[in-house]
Amino acid sequence: MEKLRVTIWNEFLHEQEQGALGELIRGIYPEGIHKCLASALAAPDLEIRTATLGEPEQGLPPEVLDTTDVLMWWGHCAHSKVEDALVDRIQARVLSGMGLVVLHSGHMSKIFRRLMGTRCRLRWREVGEKERVWCVAPGHPIAKGVPETFVIPHTEMYGEPFDIPDDGKIVFSSWYEGGNVFRSGVAFVRDQGRIFYFSPGHETYPIYHDPNVQKILGNAIRWAAPVNGIFPNRVTPSPESVEEIRTPNPLAKLDTASLHK
Ligand code: ZN
Repeated sequence: MEKLRVTIWNEFLHEQEQGALGELIRGIYPEGIHKCLASALAAPDLEIRTATLGEPEQGLPPEVLDTTDVLMWWGHCAHSKVEDALVDRIQARVLSGMGLVVLHSGHMSKIFRRLMGTRCRLRWREVGEKERVWCVAPGHPIAKGVPETFVIPHTEMYGEPFDIPDDGKIVFSSWYEGGNVFRSGVAFVRDQGRIFYFSPGHETYPIYHDPNVQKILGNAIRWAAPVNGIFPNRVTPSPESVEEIRTPNPLAKLDTASLHK
């Protein structure tokens, strides 16, 4: 069986913060969110690697990115540090078929906003309130084995209006104790690539230890996997016709090809 090659990328800064907050985060994610997810999502059909911002070439040199079928992305305070050239490479690979799973505050990452084409702004509030997640598309592959609804006891509120394009398939929708609602799990397609955004996952709560969240992310990886492999970068060919064209070309005497140069 060909294994799916998954790379879990984390900016990995909050887990190394000083003081009481850093202690709290390290208590939840001792080796970082990326390592927690890598062990939670481990399965016989997945070959999982991790990468972080502080590594050479920001964790994604060509030999890693070009051998990744599905990239998972967690970032928050260092979006602006991710080099534009890397964002270009990730975008090209997604458009060619690589899956992308964007987590929580990754809504503001350069790569997600690039692929969405919108600002991806939202409301937020951090008071540790309850979140109730509803599965609104139970027939979707990412919902397989996920209950109709489940509770995350403490979360950061992400609320509407969420400035994303409206071509996404809403798979999960959340209600918060403070009254807000949010499209918390949305699936997009961009050219050959599949993209899933999932909002629960704030660093100071043990959300990635939740079995329902893990189930959703495992499903998301498999849904986002390239269907027909990774395609070469698109070109714009001008092919010979496969059928005979009998209509006389009214401009045959003119050099229209020169307009394309
Ligand atoms: Zn957060």
